[in-house]
Amino acid sequence: MKLSVVIPCYNEEGNVRPLLEACVATFKDLSSFELIFVNDGSRDGTWAALKELYAQRPCAMKLVNFSRNFGKEAAMYAGMQKASGEYVSLLDADLQQSPQIVLDMVEFLDLNPDYDCVAAYQETRHEGKFTTWCKKTFYRMMDRICDISLHEGASDFRTFRRGVAESILSVKECYRFSKGIFSWVGFNTHFIPYEAQERHSGATNWSFWKLLKYALDGIISYTTFPLKVSTFTGGLMALLSLIYMVVVVVQKLAFGIDIPGYPTIIVLILLIGGLQMITLGIIGEYIARIYIQGKHRPLYIAKEYLSTQEEGEQDAGHSL
Ligand code: UDP
Ligand code: MG
Repeated sequence: MKLSVVIPCYNEEGNVRPLLEACVATFKDLSSFELIFVNDGSRDGTWAALKELYAQRPCAMKLVNFSRNFGKEAAMYAGMQKASGEYVSLLDADLQQSPQIVLDMVEFLDLNPDYDCVAAYQETRHEGKFTTWCKKTFYRMMDRICDISLHEGASDFRTFRRGVAESILSVKECYRFSKGIFSWVGFNTHFIPYEAQERHSGATNWSFWKLLKYALDGIISYTTFPLKVSTFTGGLMALLSLIYMVVVVVQKLAFGIDIPGYPTIIVLILLIGGLQMITLGIIGEYIARIYIQGKHRPLYIAKEYLSTQEEGEQDAGHSL
């Protein structure tokens, strides 16, 4: 198999057919390709639409049906596990990313054996100014505080060689932040600009809060910097209070000035209490991740698996 295209789908009933048609039209000249659709617990008719397409068998297809919504990261993981291609692509189901770019990526990898991965990044975003600013700040901050470096605007839209896919699958962490994983596994990556199209149908599944949570997951997964900030703040507070203590003693003994104590004490108690709670919260976030990871739960549960290829028949369920 030359190319496996992994397509995570959540509530994409109106998009899967046009996407499949676009893929079949674009990849017809490739020696072979397969489309791996992962239905991530959609609440609409996505699974029925996929099964209908499967029955018509317009090309090599694999379908994975999750038992509930496990998130895009888990869906991409499941798809990569089923991929048998020399190249593996990750493509959104909403037609925002054109299959033609996937073909360009494949051609690039064919011509450049030194490169292992081609990733597309968005040069211009059709988003609100605030969201763009938040994303920019996040990339800059990650670059400063993490060991890994993220390419600004680069998404999961990429094509890579088998070896890269296997390396990504070997990363078994359950809080998956794929942008970080791509960077962490290394390999030579070529970045190409692309412009995201309008969604074909449906609405985006990412709210601002989901994005914020995803960004926090990224920070906590790839750096212990917030813990260092807590230590530093604690040290600074201790130093400042020492200096203040000396000032108060000198004022009292040398000049006989009385410091009214009540407001100072209240302010300090609230300040120190707040800082302690923040520090505990940060430590808690790290401990919670150890706790969840310690359970060794599978990344997803699949209840159905269909494949047009005989050799592709494997167990649908997967345990780490
Ligand atoms: N997706 C998924 N599970 C989720 C959320 C999204 O599989 O819980 C899929 C979705 O069907 C789409 C891709 O991930 O194919 C990107 O989602 P979306 O278009 O909502 O994100 P955006 O393009 O706005 O970043
Ligand atoms: Mg989209």
